[in-house]
Amino acid sequence: MHAELAALAAELRARAELLDDRDWSALTLPSPASGRGDEPSSSPPLPPAGEGGVRVPEELARLAAEVEACRKCPLGATRLKPAFGVGSPTAQVMFVGEGPGYEEDRQGEPFVGKAGQLLDKILASVGLSRQAVYIANVVKCHPMVDASQPDKRGNDRPPTPDEMAACRGYLEAQIRLIRPKVLVALGSTAAKCLLATEDGVGRLRGRWHDFAGTPLLVTYHPAALLRDETYKRPVWEDMKTLMRTLEAG
Ligand code: SF4
Repeated sequence: MHAELAALAAELRARAELLDDRDWSALTLPSPASGRGDEPSSSPPLPPAGEGGVRVPEELARLAAEVEACRKCPLGATRLKPAFGVGSPTAQVMFVGEGPGYEEDRQGEPFVGKAGQLLDKILASVGLSRQAVYIANVVKCHPMVDASQPDKRGNDRPPTPDEMAACRGYLEAQIRLIRPKVLVALGSTAAKCLLATEDGVGRLRGRWHDFAGTPLLVTYHPAALLRDETYKRPVWEDMKTLMRTLEAG
């Protein structure tokens, strides 16, 4: 009986959590014709993935194996599993976050903790999924406050500039191979890495940037939404901008 009550309580908690996030599913996307003119205008169309005979899935697998063996920065010595990237090798949208945390370090996949579950909901709200997009981080190994305690929760920190510089080549190679139509930087660390800026998300979001010819949008990291619900609305606006651009072709 105790087990049944516990299961019921868990289900009710899960439902309440979903209702908390109903903003994502209750809001509807505007039609492509209702755009505010905020589509990127300066970047030329990108060639399709795999152009030039490059076999993208094989090249990504080769790169992932390289990352698996990488010790170019100290993070490689303390991480459990690198979180290389996940999603479609022909994705139109590539999301870039900061770095793996506790759960990602164990599962070897980006955005699988609480922030990742929220990202899944955000994607679903605009008809996307983890399988349809590509998700990666600026560093592939877990940056820890105290690297001697990999089993400690809440031991995450942003990567240092040196760590980001050491790992940057892998991210650039992923972008070159996948050739997404649009990049989305999740949070200020990813934005700083990709745009070489010191500006925060508040100043960078709401307009298009350019990363080596690929239009780039900046929005808040899902972890920021977990800390502060007021970020939910601007992220929703950013997702609408993203979808308008995708729908416009
Ligand atoms: S974070 Fe990047 S550069 Fe550093 S060890 Fe891991 S894969 Fe290599």
